Amino acid sequence: MNVVFEWQDAPTAEFAVIGDPISHSLSPRMHSAAFAALGLADRYVAIHVPRGEVAQALDHLRSLGYLGVNVTVPHKLDALLWAQDREPYAEKAQAANTLRLKDRACRNTDGPGFLSTLESRVAKNSPILMIGAGGSARALAVSLIEAGYSLRLFNRTMPRAEELAKLVGGNIEVIDAIRPEGVGLLLNTTSASLTGDELPIPWHSVEKNALAYDLAYSSTGTTPFLARAKEHGLATLDGRELLVQQGALSFEWWHGQDAPIEAMREALK
Ligand code: NDP
Repeated sequence: MNVVFEWQDAPTAEFAVIGDPISHSLSPRMHSAAFAALGLADRYVAIHVPRGEVAQALDHLRSLGYLGVNVTVPHKLDALLWAQDREPYAEKAQAANTLRLKDRACRNTDGPGFLSTLESRVAKNSPILMIGAGGSARALAVSLIEAGYSLRLFNRTMPRAEELAKLVGGNIEVIDAIRPEGVGLLLNTTSASLTGDELPIPWHSVEKNALAYDLAYSSTGTTPFLARAKEHGLATLDGRELLVQQGALSFEWWHGQDAPIEAMREALK
């Protein structure tokens, strides 16, 4: 667990991750390992920002001289709206996960980071079942559709899934109950794992060769979603490698140099 600062009490530092909740985030540990590996004196901290206070908090961190901020649940849209110089991909996804504070610029590294974790694990001729329609789901959907995948999309609040499909366009079928038949990848983009909630998945209908991928990760090494998937004999992947890949892209944008990926990966073990 991180030492967490309320944004009003933010310490002197150069980089931070903001979110609500934030104590679980492994970003401080991972980025601190990257700085140490390269002999940089920068500091990266976890800052709690409640809903509705993102713009105020970012203005405050900017005034303290922070250089860069990563943004996690549930603030990716508010972060995009705060930024003035918006990368087109982040604009399309309506979600920013990386900010450069000085010039109020933003990017989204979730989509490209995610695609690099997928490599050739999932064939494009079977649909992906995506659960969730929040900030990371929007970013991943944009990248997956551009990469030629088709999506079946379920969200607890169905109108949000419909909005996502309209925003992203392409081959996305919105469904009102989870139908996993024939999918090659079952992708949990919800934050249900953070609260330990179970998702209404008919596991017996999932193909045995499907991959179950949870964007979340936990200190126990599993999540309720991945535990169920393992019980049903599925291959699983948690969000650590995505954390490394999206974090490396953030690092490279901020620092203008290659990220020490091995040191970052090692820090999460
Ligand atoms: P958002 O708050 O933007 O979206 C949350 C989504 O989860 C919404 O679709 C919401 O549904 C759904 N949800 C929340 N609670 C439940 C529940 N109990 N049951 C069912 N659905 C639920 O979050 P983000 O998209 O930013 O992040 C989502 C998750 O992905 C987080 O766990 C985050 O840590 C993880 N993540 C990990 C990354 C990594 O590097 N490993 C990168 C990006 C994200 P509704 O619309 O109905 O409220």
